[in-house]
Amino acid sequence: MTNFFQTKLEYLRGVGLQRAQLLQKELNLFTYGDLIQRYPFRYLDRTQFYNICDLHDDMPYVQVKGILRGREVLGEGPKKRMVAKVADASGELELVWFKGVNYLEKIIRNHQEYIVFGKPTMFNGRPQMAHPELEEVTEQKPGQSYLQPVYNTSEKLKNYHRIDSKALARMVADLLKIALPQVQETLSAELIQHYGLMDKATALQQIHFPQNSDLLQKARFRLKFEELFYVQLKLLRQRDQRKVTLAGQIFKEVPTLVHFYKNIMPFDLTGAQKRVIHDIYKDFCAGQQMNRLLQGDVGSGKTIVAFISMLMAADNGAQSCLMAPTEILADQHYTGLKTYADMLGLKIGLLTGSTRTAARRVLHEQLRSGEMHMLVGTHALLEDVVQFKNLGLTIMDEQHRFGVAQRSKLWQKNPHVIPHVLVMTATPIPRTLAMTLYGDLDVSVIDELPAGRKPIVTVHRFDSNRLKVFGFLRDQIRLGRQVYIVYPLIEESETMADYKDLMDGYESVARAFPEFQISIVHGRMTAGEKDAEMQRFIKNETQIMVATTVIEVGVNVPNASVMVIESTERFGLSQLHQLRGRVGRGAEQSYCILMSGYKLSKDSRTRIETMVRTNNGFEIADIDLKLRGPGDLMGTQQSGVLDLLIADLAKDGRILSESRAAAQAILHSDPGLNQPQNQAIRRHIESLPATAVNWSRIS
Ligand code: ADP
Ligand code: MG
Repeated sequence: MTNFFQTKLEYLRGVGLQRAQLLQKELNLFTYGDLIQRYPFRYLDRTQFYNICDLHDDMPYVQVKGILRGREVLGEGPKKRMVAKVADASGELELVWFKGVNYLEKIIRNHQEYIVFGKPTMFNGRPQMAHPELEEVTEQKPGQSYLQPVYNTSEKLKNYHRIDSKALARMVADLLKIALPQVQETLSAELIQHYGLMDKATALQQIHFPQNSDLLQKARFRLKFEELFYVQLKLLRQRDQRKVTLAGQIFKEVPTLVHFYKNIMPFDLTGAQKRVIHDIYKDFCAGQQMNRLLQGDVGSGKTIVAFISMLMAADNGAQSCLMAPTEILADQHYTGLKTYADMLGLKIGLLTGSTRTAARRVLHEQLRSGEMHMLVGTHALLEDVVQFKNLGLTIMDEQHRFGVAQRSKLWQKNPHVIPHVLVMTATPIPRTLAMTLYGDLDVSVIDELPAGRKPIVTVHRFDSNRLKVFGFLRDQIRLGRQVYIVYPLIEESETMADYKDLMDGYESVARAFPEFQISIVHGRMTAGEKDAEMQRFIKNETQIMVATTVIEVGVNVPNASVMVIESTERFGLSQLHQLRGRVGRGAEQSYCILMSGYKLSKDSRTRIETMVRTNNGFEIADIDLKLRGPGDLMGTQQSGVLDLLIADLAKDGRILSESRAAAQAILHSDPGLNQPQNQAIRRHIESLPATAVNWSRIS
């Protein structure tokens, strides 16, 4: 009876049409299945109470127990509020409510003992709680659960319809009574035994009403495992299917590449670069279409890997393109690679939004005839008029800025054989996230910087020390170096206030350094203006670059050795790391100076401390993931992968690895899921909604 869980909630005892509609509208709950899978977001642990004297600002929601007194309603109209105090043996906690005061007046009593639950904040050294939950202390009934579920609900449901967490808990309890006999196991007996998993029905019971924390842990593990297992199974199946069906061009010959390597390339490759090039070459010889993600920290030398891959294509009569997220970066790639291409007698072109119509026409023609071997550009090269004779390889630099739709456009550029795809990113995606988002891509990592790089020295300075910082900048510039000063201003959503900050900053820098030339680059300038300023800086005609985050991605000026970041607290951690990566590219000692005011939130402090402590991009990405949550990272929220019910990619890396290994093992021994022991898995995967998790191929 698979449809049981699709039954509408209005049919649940005591719900009815009106409440069902509210649940739908407010909490997105439609069916029995929705409700049973809306797990509590936390539990009240009736065994854990804090002493009031131990409360402090940085605590999450906590529980204290004490006698209520001094209950009072203050103010009139919109300012009306209820205040009270609760005291335990260690101290006093002030409570305040701004909403539902009339209702609270009826139920809150002085001298009653309460359990108070909320988020403590400190005010003048005294602890306070706004809008705490109160519960009268009653005799604990023997055998009753000590862990009470707390469900998310909305203000509207709570205040106007009395559907609070407890009401939801009652609904869930009623539902479980009739639902548990209907629950089918979704994992195979083998998996359950091998990983010591709780069965599905028990897990559902225990996740809502845990008997103790041990059983809760087991229930959680089971449900997370199942969730991640099916994500991985789906991704791996897609990858396997793609591998058998999609042919790719073979690039086996490498004469130009050997010549380049022996006679032109100005440095030796690092071991990591060699390894990655070998991965790519193997893919090129396999006759199947490559879909590879190349991760490498800023400055690890991905561009040369891209170019070498493009040489392999050229050596075998195929064209290639390299797509960058900004014009500045496209220009820079083009300028750098053109030097090599010219020496090799290969034709390389640049196509961006500012390419003139006449030049464009010539370019289009050369691409169609095959005369042009390589094309570097921005998203302008996605336009339908851009046609190739035989596009064999597409490379995307800093791919997280590209949407899925744009990727699929690149695929369509060759109607005969889908081009190989190499996606490069300097945003070190934490392993857990990469495995989920790119579970169907092959991944290569450059985990080594070219020899001779000195680690960047990172320091934190308060705004009040600006004069000293400026003195340091002056010394560095006199030594022949160049300096970036970056202001927070997001290209797309720049506000007037941010713009003013930048301009004020520019003026104060200009006043402080009359003896130096200063560039400025921001999102309100035209591409041409930006480029001209950037070029002046690259040529060392200007010594200081005042800029917004437009310089964030990929820009390479080896002589720039100091990065000053203003209002550091307004940047995300990964973004700070990206910005820092703009320096440390030459032989000189480089510095990153993080400026901020004195008032910093806890998260800002963590971000700054992390930056000062480590240069390791993967470590930084992991911390960033923990601070922000995966949904916020690099636009991944559009992926749909992250609509997880219970698993948390930031925390459940180990479960993810295990579930992935389990999925791999099953597909290895039974690719079609035909064997009898895998029928539960097959049934379940077929019942899952068809929202395919698919970043690599949209067609
Ligand atoms: P990213 O991975 O951030 O894109 P780039 O490709 O821009 O890094 O490389 C950063 C700098 O390091 C460039 O100036 C590049 O020429 C240089 N480089 C790359 N590989 C090596 C190497 N193996 N040895 C020395 N320098 C290298
Ligand atoms: Mg780069």
